[in-house]
Amino acid sequence: MINEHYKAMLSEKSVIRQIAETASARRAEIGAENVFDFSLGNPNVPCAPAFTDAMVDLYETRDPYELHGYSPSVGLVEFRAAVADSLNRRFGMDYTENHVFPTSGATAAIAHAVRAVTKPGDEVLTFAPYFPEYRPYIEGSGAKLTVVPAAADGAQIDFDAAERMLTDRVAAVLINTPNNPAGVVYTARTMGRLADLMARKAAQYGHDIFLISDEPYREIVFDGADQLFPAKYYDNTLTCYSFSKSLSLPGERIGYVAVNPRATDADLMVPVFAQISRTIGHNCPSSSIQLAVARVVDETSDLSVYERNMNLIYDALVELGFEVERPGGTFYIFPRTPTEDALEFCTQAMEYDLFLVPSDSFGVGGHMRLSYCMETEQLERAIGRLKVFMHERYG
Ligand code: PLP
Repeated sequence: MINEHYKAMLSEKSVIRQIAETASARRAEIGAENVFDFSLGNPNVPCAPAFTDAMVDLYETRDPYELHGYSPSVGLVEFRAAVADSLNRRFGMDYTENHVFPTSGATAAIAHAVRAVTKPGDEVLTFAPYFPEYRPYIEGSGAKLTVVPAAADGAQIDFDAAERMLTDRVAAVLINTPNNPAGVVYTARTMGRLADLMARKAAQYGHDIFLISDEPYREIVFDGADQLFPAKYYDNTLTCYSFSKSLSLPGERIGYVAVNPRATDADLMVPVFAQISRTIGHNCPSSSIQLAVARVVDETSDLSVYERNMNLIYDALVELGFEVERPGGTFYIFPRTPTEDALEFCTQAMEYDLFLVPSDSFGVGGHMRLSYCMETEQLERAIGRLKVFMHERYG
């Protein structure tokens, strides 16, 4: 008989994916240029040319036996050393290759990190609004996701609630800065306060509390801001990264977990990740992709379109009277909906071929997420359509 647990999950399929599928069906009916799809966070800029050059060179020069051979279970040393060097140079850290584990994107990075530092029944604390896929990533390990509600006063974290909810049962705190869906980038003050709170609670309870820092949008920050590196603030940090957004390689499935060398059992963590891989059927990314990314770890695609688009959509939303926070990074924006029922508003918008994601699955009501990774020209036309919708329905 088919497993009932997974069967039940079918009815909780990702809302974002369902909206994207509806938009896709609509594109087939009326043409892509007439559908304004703000649903998926799928990079719309080509991958960095240096990555393609690296792949071509590897195919031309490397022994095919080596290029297509099995990766060691802890990953290829070229990749692990390149990531360690890059993080050390950029953020003043002291990783070695023994602290870096290549994963199939941030998804697998989080799946490994959670399993490494929790046991079934432990809690992982995160903060609303949060990426809805955290629930299956975490619950699949037997741990429990506990969500600190969003701060009502526009603060980045409700520290009173976090203080109450960070109980003895919490083994890890999962953060995401820059944040999907709100585009919020933690300030040094927020990060410092969170690190202090976690250190204080860990000392009080007499056990480690790990920070799992999900950073797929690390490179997409606006206004020339510096990237903050959470592991600098807290020793017991597992940094989960993905090259999906920075290099526009979502289909290649490559990311990593980096273990802060000052973390408890830091030198054991990567071998433990390899054992976790065995139990969940994960394999390191393909050898050729690890080798190519190792050569371009400091590169990004041309990410400038995201900031250009953010300014356009932010200004348009403000002009239309939406209550909205200006994102500090990512390619998402998270305005309040004019109706308290976000689903109702997003359903109305669909009549205008505007595909917006209601906020409920992100753990807050009354908002919607717009992903603006699209050609600027398409975004301009989408804004035109949004204006028609708002004028006709909310005039
Ligand atoms: N975490 C966040 C916040 C994301 O937005 C995503 C993907 O959109 C992921 C993790 C998963 O990243 P990947 O596709 O690289 O596994």
